[in-house]
Amino acid sequence: MSVRAAAWRMLAGLSLWLCLGLVQAEASALLAPQQGEMLNLAPHLQLLEDPSGQLGLEQVQAMDFRDNQADSANFGFSHSAWWVRVHLSNPSAQIRHLMLRQDYPLIDWLDFWSPQPDGSWQVRNTGDRRPFASREIHHRDFIFSLDLPPYSEQTYYLRYASAGPINIGLSLSSAQALFERISLEQLAYGFYYGAFLSLVLYNLFMFLVVRDRAFFFYLLYVSCYGLYMAVHNGLSYQFLWPDNPRLANDSLLLLLGMSLLWALQFARGILATRQLAPRLDRLSQVLQGLCVLLMLGIPGFSYGQLIQPFAALTLVITLQLLLLGVVALLAGARPARYYLLAWSALLVGVVIYMLKSFGWLPHNVLTQNAFQLGSLIEMLLLSLALGSRVRELKRSSYLDALTGLCNRRHFDSQMHKELQVARQLGRPLSLLLLDIDHFKRFNDNHGHQAGDRALQKLARLLQCQVRKPFIACRHGGEEFAVIMPNSSAEDAKVLAERLRRELANLDEGDVPLTLSIGLASLADGPFEQPEQLFAAADEALYAAKRGGRDQLVCYQG
Ligand code: GH3
Ligand code: MG
Ligand code: MG
Repeated sequence: MSVRAAAWRMLAGLSLWLCLGLVQAEASALLAPQQGEMLNLAPHLQLLEDPSGQLGLEQVQAMDFRDNQADSANFGFSHSAWWVRVHLSNPSAQIRHLMLRQDYPLIDWLDFWSPQPDGSWQVRNTGDRRPFASREIHHRDFIFSLDLPPYSEQTYYLRYASAGPINIGLSLSSAQALFERISLEQLAYGFYYGAFLSLVLYNLFMFLVVRDRAFFFYLLYVSCYGLYMAVHNGLSYQFLWPDNPRLANDSLLLLLGMSLLWALQFARGILATRQLAPRLDRLSQVLQGLCVLLMLGIPGFSYGQLIQPFAALTLVITLQLLLLGVVALLAGARPARYYLLAWSALLVGVVIYMLKSFGWLPHNVLTQNAFQLGSLIEMLLLSLALGSRVRELKRSSYLDALTGLCNRRHFDSQMHKELQVARQLGRPLSLLLLDIDHFKRFNDNHGHQAGDRALQKLARLLQCQVRKPFIACRHGGEEFAVIMPNSSAEDAKVLAERLRRELANLDEGDVPLTLSIGLASLADGPFEQPEQLFAAADEALYAAKRGGRDQLVCYQG
């Protein structure tokens, strides 16, 4: 290379560097992001508010924009149109293909102007009031492609107008960086909505099997809430109703109203608030009525008119849902524990998200998605609350309501099981039948309620004295039974005498209660069926009654 050529090259390079430096300093153009890089444009944006919403591109070009200089550009509810200007520079010798992404998908009207080589402007009009097909790239967010020529600087304009919040969330990257980001996001959404779908299917099957309406209301709640989240993410518009911009916008309030309605219905069912707190239950019904009323208003009123009543109702219903949980918990309902934990998870998620939005918590994957994560944990825990309710229903099906001991049904199935085990393994098995003496007289003298209390007292005595693997049951009326696996007649005698002694120590009115007890053991005869062993114990009990009551009699083969 000659010296002259080298000098020329240096001079050319220097002048280009100077020119670009000057231009950059003048218009503060942003260097286009490198391959694999993703830039948050918020601090580099220039903004112009158009309260009339009437200005066009030519007019705003001549006006003064202000620098945003903040890490975000969210303006809440605004009747104005918002104009955004971005200067980009490409100091390299290659054309740069870039992707501009607006990552809040619920903007009603969004227009993007890019300069053309011939000096004209290309405009792309989209937004969720326009059919989904208006998007250049079919994605849940708005994505625009732009080509930055070599050694050039370009100015781009966007216009935002929306009845909902104006969240300007622009980022700029190479197509490669965007692909990489989106593939991760789609995976995360797949997990998220996949989990929702599993909960829906699981509880659908549970509903079909258990036939408890609480499952059905849970299903409705999860489905509406999951769809509501999907509307927020822009996924429902893309995949469910892409040709229906009206539904794309109305669905948000509709699904919010339905979620609130079914959440209340679910809470009322699973916490049994009609029995626990009738007044609160009536208040829930009134709130549900308000939900329906607001939803009926959706076709007639605008989003802007309805959003505030909806927000207020959401707050009131959230408080009501928590209150119902606390009341049920204090009343001792087991599902209430999971229920309250579930709502707390959602609230923690919401609070974290809000703290992030106010800048009090760092912006990261966790804080950004805290709301969504919280709602998923909520759904999971509510499903556990349903499980706990099923367990409670099952428990109540084998417990006696008055005494809390096992009931006759449980006695029958346990006798069957224990006899089989004992016969197979050649182990001993004993059965005690206990009957209160002259209980009819006790009732006549002291009243039926005192009789009930006496039965409960005896039940408590049995609960204290009869330990696992022994099983105490109320067989019926004032008759009780104790199944004693792996116990000989001698062991059973000891327990029977102890029960009689302890009962004598209980002071129950003027007439002391006494027990007649019949005892039969597997070793006493060839008992093949549980009914046979029971009949033997009953025979012994009958003998005890005949022998003057207040005694233990063992079956004699
Ligand atoms: P015996 O010594 O022969 O067993 O005399 P009894 O009076 O105890 O026996 P009987 O079978 O003639 O009467 C049982 C009584 O138990 C009749 C009924 O009033 C009473 N009873 C049964 N179930 C209940 C109950 O749930 N609550 C109360 N308070 N009484 C009950
Ligand atoms: Mg009796
Ligand atoms: Mg009796």
